[in-house]
Amino acid sequence: MTDSRSAPEEPAPEPSEDAAPKGSDRRTFLKAGLAAAGAGLGAEALASPKKEGVRDDLFMPEEHWRDRMEAPDDGKRYGWIVDTRRCFGCHACEVACKAENDVPLGNFIRQTIYHDTQRKSGQQARVMIPMACQHCEDAPCIKACPCGALHKGEGGSVQVNYDKCSGHATCKEACPYGAIYIDPVANQAVKCHNCTHRLEHDMEPACVSTCPSESLTFGDLNDPDSKVSKLKAELEAEGALERIREDKGTEPRTWYATGEEHPTSSWESKVPGEGQSYHPDAYSVYEWGQDTPPHERIEHPAEERRTES
Ligand code: SF4
Repeated sequence: MTDSRSAPEEPAPEPSEDAAPKGSDRRTFLKAGLAAAGAGLGAEALASPKKEGVRDDLFMPEEHWRDRMEAPDDGKRYGWIVDTRRCFGCHACEVACKAENDVPLGNFIRQTIYHDTQRKSGQQARVMIPMACQHCEDAPCIKACPCGALHKGEGGSVQVNYDKCSGHATCKEACPYGAIYIDPVANQAVKCHNCTHRLEHDMEPACVSTCPSESLTFGDLNDPDSKVSKLKAELEAEGALERIREDKGTEPRTWYATGEEHPTSSWESKVPGEGQSYHPDAYSVYEWGQDTPPHERIEHPAEERRTES
């Protein structure tokens, strides 16, 4: 699960009060900020860059994240294609990911989200949407990370340095795709890391090699002969590719192939957002057919009974 390769060292940060988590973490956070002020960072250096649509109030000064936003010079550009038209919701990708990365009960690195809708014909339809970290080019999680843990790794993927992560969860607050959870035992941020440990042995991420419908394709977009490059070119020519929440300006490295009747705009409200994570109730039968995003929980009768007893 880990990518503990050293991220570049950077000066101590000057956080804004808004960026600080509540409670004791918040005190630690503000203490780090005072240290930064002592280090002499000027007002210009402390200005957060503005990006329409993202939680830029959480961003650290650019000096703090600029080096971590630089990908290693390895000539690679990793990316994903997710074909929602092929996915039939077997959840094999999630199970493989959980087994591969020791994801605890109730937490998810990836999740296949349901969107129940109707075809033009009136027939009921369920769209299956495999979701995980979008490996954004302009990653808000990196800009918001106060401890310098989030950084660009191999192929420009977004990674967590577990020698540095101290569980502030500011990255989770900033991620516009709800792609991060905080491990309840380690108190560290966890997200998709492209199964880096498998790539090192020329293996695909566990979800890709497990998916029986070949809905997930991962690889090097800089290699014109890679499967992902060829598929991307083919689907672009068909006009079938979209990215979600383009208005956030994060330039995700994940593209979705969508059916004509179910474009991303019809289901992206079901995808968790800032401050959220994937939720086990997403599959509850009580959520079926609901318009509410699956992460906004509905208390179902069994829970009510448990509360009463
Ligand atoms: Fe970071 Fe979220 Fe973008 Fe992944 S999807 S790179 S966790 S902001």
